[in-house]
Amino acid sequence: MKSNNPADLEALKIVTKHHAKEIHELDPRQNRMALVGTTHLVPIMNDHDCLPVHNFKFGSHPESRVIGEEIYEHIFDKGYDGCWRGCAVACAHGVKDFSPFTGPYQGKKVFVDGPEYETIAGCGSNLGIFDAQTILEINFYCDAYGIDTISVGTSLGFVMECFENGLITKDHTGGMDLSFGNRFNALAIIHQMARGEGFGAIVGKGIRNMKIIFARDYGADPAFMQDIGMESKGLEFSEYITKESLAQQGGYGLALKGPQHDEAWLIFLDMVHNFMPTFENKAEALHWFPMFRTWFGLCGLCKLPWNDIVPEDNKKTADRPK
Ligand code: SF4
Repeated sequence: MKSNNPADLEALKIVTKHHAKEIHELDPRQNRMALVGTTHLVPIMNDHDCLPVHNFKFGSHPESRVIGEEIYEHIFDKGYDGCWRGCAVACAHGVKDFSPFTGPYQGKKVFVDGPEYETIAGCGSNLGIFDAQTILEINFYCDAYGIDTISVGTSLGFVMECFENGLITKDHTGGMDLSFGNRFNALAIIHQMARGEGFGAIVGKGIRNMKIIFARDYGADPAFMQDIGMESKGLEFSEYITKESLAQQGGYGLALKGPQHDEAWLIFLDMVHNFMPTFENKAEALHWFPMFRTWFGLCGLCKLPWNDIVPEDNKKTADRPK
C-alpha cells in the first residue's frame, strides 16, 4: 500500500477496509466471482441473447450451460486466487493438472490460467464448441503461444462461417473441415498459427487481412465477408452480440483501440441492469464510460470491483450507472 506513495495513507486504509468488507458481503449474493470468476457471464449473456454463437450469428444456445459457471466451478482449483495478494474480489481462477490432448504438451500435466468469460464465448460458443475441456485446452495453448483468445476465437468464427458457406474449401485449408464445432481442427489451426505454418498462418493474420487474402487469392465475395467479418479498425470484436445493445455497439465503434472490452463495456449496465434506457443516457455513457475505464487503467486499478459489484445503496443515488 505504501509503495504507491498515497497522499493520505490513513484515509486509504479506512477506505480499503470498507471497500473490502462491502465486496466480501456483496459478491457472494451477486456474481460469486470469488468462486466462479467471470464464468457467471455465460448464462447471463445467454439469457439476454448477447452470447456469440456461430460467428455472432445467434445470441444464445441451449448447450451454453455446459460451458458456464455450473461446470467451471467444479473444475477450478479451490481457494483464493487473485491477480495480486490484496484483491478482495479474487476472480482469477485456474485449473491444475490439466492434460492436453493435442500439441507439444500432449499427455503432460499443465496449469491453465482461466478460462474467463471472453475465452469461453470466443473459443467455445462462437465456434460451436460446447465442451469445457476443449476450451481449457485452447486457453492453455493461446497463453503458451502468447496469442490472444479473443482474436483467435473471433477469427476462427469468421473462418468457420466462410467454410460453411463455401467461400473457402478444403483445398484452401490443407484438407481440414472447418465447420462449426470441429474442435480438433480448431486446435490444429491454433498450433499451425503459432508455428507460422499452413492455413493457420493465414488465420493468424486476423480478419481484416483474411478478407483481403480470401478475395484476392480464393475469389471469395468481399461484400459477404464484409457482413460476417467481425472486426473494426483491424481488431476482432470481443465477445458480445451488439445488436441487442446500442450502447455496447456504439462503444465498439468509438473505442480508440477498436471493439475491445475495456473502454467499451456498457453491455452489463445497458442490458442486464437497464441503467440507461434512453438514447440520451446511452449517448452520454459513451462519453463518460471510456474515461472512467481509462482512468482506472492509468491508475493501475482493476475495473471489476467497480463495474461488476453494485453497492446496495446504488438505487438511492442520482446517477446509478456511474
Ligand atoms: S485484480 Fe481484478 S481481475 Fe484480478 S482478481 Fe482482482 S477483480 Fe479479478
